[in-house]
Formats: sequence, C-alpha cells, structure tokens
Amino acid sequence: MFPPILYYSTNLKAPRVTFREALLKGLAPDRGLYMPELIPPLSMPEIDAFSALSYDEIALRVMQKFLSTELPGDIFATLVKDAYNFDVPLEKVVDRKYIMRLDQGPTASFKDFAARMMGRLINYYLGIENRQLIILTATSGDTGSAIANAFFGLNNIKVVVLFPETEVTLRQRKQMTTLGKNILIVAIDGKFDDCQALVKQAFSDHELEFLNLSSANSINIGRLIPQIVYYFYAFAKLRNGNSGDDITFSVPSGNFGDMMGGVLAMKMGLPVRKFIIATNANDEFPVLLKTQKYDKIEPSRNCISSAMNVGHPSNLARLIALYGGVMDEKGNISKQPDYTLMNKDIHGVSISDNLTRDTIRYVYDKYKVILEPHGAVGWAGLNDYLNTYPAEDNPDALFVSLETAHPAKFPVEINNILGIDPELPESLKGIEHKHEYIIKVNNNYPAFKEFLKYSF
Ligand SMILES: *Cc1c(COP(=O)(O)O)cnc(C)c1O
Repeated sequence: MFPPILYYSTNLKAPRVTFREALLKGLAPDRGLYMPELIPPLSMPEIDAFSALSYDEIALRVMQKFLSTELPGDIFATLVKDAYNFDVPLEKVVDRKYIMRLDQGPTASFKDFAARMMGRLINYYLGIENRQLIILTATSGDTGSAIANAFFGLNNIKVVVLFPETEVTLRQRKQMTTLGKNILIVAIDGKFDDCQALVKQAFSDHELEFLNLSSANSINIGRLIPQIVYYFYAFAKLRNGNSGDDITFSVPSGNFGDMMGGVLAMKMGLPVRKFIIATNANDEFPVLLKTQKYDKIEPSRNCISSAMNVGHPSNLARLIALYGGVMDEKGNISKQPDYTLMNKDIHGVSISDNLTRDTIRYVYDKYKVILEPHGAVGWAGLNDYLNTYPAEDNPDALFVSLETAHPAKFPVEINNILGIDPELPESLKGIEHKHEYIIKVNNNYPAFKEFLKYSF
C-alpha cells in the first residue's frame, strides 16, 4: 500500500492534512482550499479495464487512489455501492456527440454524485470518532437539496442550508424545505454570493468554534473527488477502443467544482482532448483565459441557468493551483499560473440567456432531446468550440456535454420555450403538497451569527 496522500491548502499557510481531516474541516484554517499534494495516476491498462465495469466499480477504483489506507476497502466498497444506485445515461445526440445525463439521482441534479458520497464518508468517520458536526452550506439551487437529501436522518450531523430567497425555483426550494428533522433551511434576502459570504465568515469566526461547523460546498475536497469519476465512466463506455482514443467534454460551470473533477481526471491520465468550460453571463473565467486578468463579478448576474450565477467561483483557486499559480480566497493572484498550458487544455466561453433559449429550442426541434438551461449552456459551449475550431468537428471524434439537472426542475422555463411539460422523475413527484420548514434570516452577518448561536 502507498502512504496516504496529504492535502495542502491553496493559500499555502496551513499544515498539510489527511483526507479525513480535509473532509471534516472543509475549509483550511488559512481559508484556502484543500488539494491533493500528488495526483495519483491511473495507467492506461487500468483505464482500459473500466469499459467492462459498472459505475460504482469504476468509482471505487478511481476514488480509492485518493483515500488509500485511510478507509478499509471493503467498507468503502459498500459506501460506494450504496451511493450510486441510479443510472448514468449517455444519450447520443448526433454522430459521436453525446450528452451525459447526471440527473437521475434523488434530487435530479449532478450534485447528488458528490453529496451522496460525501455524506456517507463523513458519517463513517464521525461514527468511529463518536463526534457531532454541523454542516453549513450555501446553495444557488441544487447543492442545498442534494446535501439535505444526502444527510437527511444521519444521527451525528445537523445541516444548515442558506439559499437566496428569490433565486431558486419552487421545486428546488421544496426539495430542501420539506424534509425537516436534522435539516434547517434558511432563506436569505440576498444573492447566492451573499449566502456564500455569510457561510465563509461563520467558518472563520472563533466565537462559533463550539458549534463544530463544517462545509459541504464545493470547497470541500470530499465533494470534488466523486466528481472525477463520471469523466472516466463516459470515456470507458463511449470510446471506440483504438489506441489513440480521446474525448472532449463540455462542462456548464458556476463554482467550477464539476470542471475541477474533470481536470483532475485528465491529470490522472484520462486522455482528454479539450475541456470546454461554458459559463452563463458570469464570464469572469472566459475573460481571465483571454486577458490573464481576473475581475470577479459583483453582484453576480442573474441568468436562467440560475445554479451557475456565480461571480467569483470558489474552485478557481484550485484550478490556478493545478496550473502552478496561487490565488487567495478574495481572488487576488499572487503567482500567475501557466496560462499557455491552461489555454491548451481549456476553451472558455460565455453563453447568453438568449443563446441558451435558442439552444433548447433548436436541440428539441432537430433531435427531440430536451435540455434544461444548464445543459443547454454546455451544448451551446460545444457548438461555440466547433465553430471556432471547425477542423475539430470530425464525425469520428468523441464529444460529451454534461446535462447537470433534469428538465423537470425548470418547468416554467421549459414550458415558455418548448410549450411542453417535461415528465417529473419519480423522486420529484408529490413534493408540492408537503409542508415546508423555512427560517428567514436577514442578509447581514450579526443577524446570521445570532441565529447560529441560539439555534443549537
Ligand atoms: C451547481 C450546478 C452547476 C454548476 O456546477 P459547478 O460545480 O458549481 O460549476 C451546473 N448545473 C447545475 C444544474 C447545478 O446545480
């Protein structure tokens, strides 16, 4: 067995920790993000063998590389099998261009992949330590419900989710607020970035240390590692078996956790030809790639792909770190990353709401495939890439665009654009009629702190 990989903070001012500590802490004490000190490689024969395996078997083999000796293999295998009990459809659109539907989990968004695994890991570690935790998280729509569902009913964990009161859909809200028990849902009269700022401030507040706060946002390394797996899965299932096989992914991005999973997969050895990082009008990253200047967008811009309304993606510091740079939590870059290499690996593009709507209409009319706003940003990003580099548009090349949520989570938008009501997945049926538990807190830190102090 290899010694366990240690995790360093992207701010470089905190001690290195094991996976378990990084998972239970969330944010590093210097407010940086934990990153594996070493990216464990997967050999081509190991990757070749994935073609014959199921999703959970691939997940076990990929994630085990990051945990190694910390968790007994048989226990980990049970947790993985239990977490991934749903389909991961790869749907052909045209030629070898596919969408990967990451929307078949219990809350119908790709965030289930990470949340379900992280919940099971945290629960396991808390159980052996006989400890309790409060998971504090901010959501722009889908994280909250994925986390709340993944942790619902776990004895050692309480969950507090902050959401921007007017920026989530009714269905997204109901998926969190109808649970009760150990799940507290807090409406903030502000934006997602405000919720995220409140959460971050609480984490660094010494007077709240007694609460044992931990994070489940995509800043937690436990959220990131499970998101490496489906990139390997897509390649394993769709490759044509030639030795020079490669794959291009288009990833609709907000906080860049999804995309970081992909980039880590590539650094582990997955033969990725290109990542297309498609944002909505919050275009700080495509602009950074072009100009090498970073300006966060404050306040973030409201778009129909609401889960991507992020003006300062928290995982950007991780990407910068992977390319040799240093960015702090405020977005200041003290050491520049290798932009040449970054531009070689990544095509960044910003997609407007109008183009998002046109894409939903076009893909439905032409291919009878229903995209939702986030997946449509991904698909439009792929088109932008192929228009920019027409030589890449070869019918034999493999392209996968990620569909990150189920269209039924955005019924008003889909109905306005297509005039149809996408059928609800089983997991979302009946929640309209359930009772909601919501706590309203003002959008300022003292109010939020009072709430935390006196609720537990
Ligand atoms: C969260 C979310 C995204 C963005 O994912 P990041 O990891 O934050 O980039 C995209 N689509 C949907 C549906 C989401 O919920």
